Amino acid sequence: MEYQSTRSADCRVSAAEAILEGLAPDGGLFTMPSLGEVSLDWRSVLTLDTQGMAREILAALLPSFTREEAAPLVDRAYAGKFETEDLTPCVPVGEDTVLELFRGPTSAFKDVALSLLPHLMTAAREKCGAKEEILILTATSGDTGKAAMAGFCDVPGTRIIVFYPDGGVSAVQRAQMVTQEGSNVCVCAVRGNFDDAQTGVKDIFAAVTAGDLLHGANVRLSSANSINIGRLAPQVVYYFRAYADMVNSGRIRCGDRMDCCVPTGNFGNILAGYFARELGLPIGRLVCASNANNVLTDFLRTGCYDRNRPFYKTVSPSMDILVSSNLERLLYLLSGDTEAVRGWMAALRTTGTFQVPAALLGDLQSVFWPGCCGDEDTKCAIGEVYRRHGYLCDTHTAVAWHVAQQYKAACPGHAPVVILSTASPYKFPAAVLEGLGADASGDEFAVIDRLHALTGVPVPGGLTGLADRPERHQDVIDRSDMLDYVLKKAVEKEW
Ligand SMILES: *Cc1c(COP(=O)(O)O)cnc(C)c1O
Repeated sequence: MEYQSTRSADCRVSAAEAILEGLAPDGGLFTMPSLGEVSLDWRSVLTLDTQGMAREILAALLPSFTREEAAPLVDRAYAGKFETEDLTPCVPVGEDTVLELFRGPTSAFKDVALSLLPHLMTAAREKCGAKEEILILTATSGDTGKAAMAGFCDVPGTRIIVFYPDGGVSAVQRAQMVTQEGSNVCVCAVRGNFDDAQTGVKDIFAAVTAGDLLHGANVRLSSANSINIGRLAPQVVYYFRAYADMVNSGRIRCGDRMDCCVPTGNFGNILAGYFARELGLPIGRLVCASNANNVLTDFLRTGCYDRNRPFYKTVSPSMDILVSSNLERLLYLLSGDTEAVRGWMAALRTTGTFQVPAALLGDLQSVFWPGCCGDEDTKCAIGEVYRRHGYLCDTHTAVAWHVAQQYKAACPGHAPVVILSTASPYKFPAAVLEGLGADASGDEFAVIDRLHALTGVPVPGGLTGLADRPERHQDVIDRSDMLDYVLKKAVEKEW
């Protein structure tokens, strides 16, 4: 099975090339031609441990790698790095089940994919016969940067530079990044907001390619963002893990359906659920939970995607997104029509909106159920889940919990619901503490301590003692200096 672009069937590459390139040359996303071409015996996958599941699923989705080749990559990515051996545990919370995706090194769900991506990339480079070192450039609004640094830290043949907006990330997020160890990682603040940092990174890619600016430096630029198929494939695994856990705990019988409610931003997490469903795993509905930036809720209700709307900064910032990039893959997989996808994406770029036909909307609605909630409901949900069930959840998870209750009320025939939990409550401590009705003023490190004192829930190791760790990275630059910064760093032998 070869990969192709969502915008042109002629643009064909191997899975390894798709991982190495990230984005297709025509601006589309790399995808399998159809999920029907992927062969996997889902029942036998359910009998394996999580790493075994990962090996089988990666080999099926990324056929450049055999399961024997995938095994050591999985081992290097995960062994000893997560709080629990099964990586992503399920916890019963009332009649629902919470799938905890945040037990990795940086306490965010992005660890699941970003722990494996560096190993997939270096293996893909070998497959493709490329010799250069991989230099990852990433702009971050907080969470992705740290998870990427932790994932790439000391992986041979790779280096990573992360740019974040100066003054634009939380104190905890900044501390997590600037204290990151590793001889191949670098993080730098940019004067400006997140968009400045992100546009700056895009401009660097364009300038380096157009001018061959890194000629002779023996490096190739790459990106770790969530449209890379190498980030999507590892996320399919935890849907299988959750299903096996639901069966083993007696919440469902093998073959019964489970519904999944996913706090959604760029549509990567929930798309991985769609992959699992298409591979045969008995998932009923995928509930798409959004915050006040509810562009996907409207789209899944009407078929009209419209990004021309106010942008809200919410207490669930990782879902503050108006263009959900991975949706393009779903539109292709459902329609099989590259020309239509090209048209929709062109309309989105030029007018900010596009409309899909009624038949496609019907197909979307037979799988996806949309819902959204604002900040007040998010905080109420945190308090309610804690008081009723003694479970402390973060703001993103609370959005999903609230929307899951909407879903159950609206669809009485629903299956048992698994709610995907994407961050530790200690990553967004002030809003969580407010949700519990307590005072959340003061510095964020003190708020973490208060939240711990109030609930007794252990603080993850990566978030303790942060204020006391040495700062290893203190560069602050103007946006106009980002290109020079990268060119200088790229030729330095030692960081
Ligand atoms: C990235 C992120 C999300 C959104 O996931 P997508 O795959 O982009 O939809 C939700 N919650 C948290 C905490 C995240 O970091």
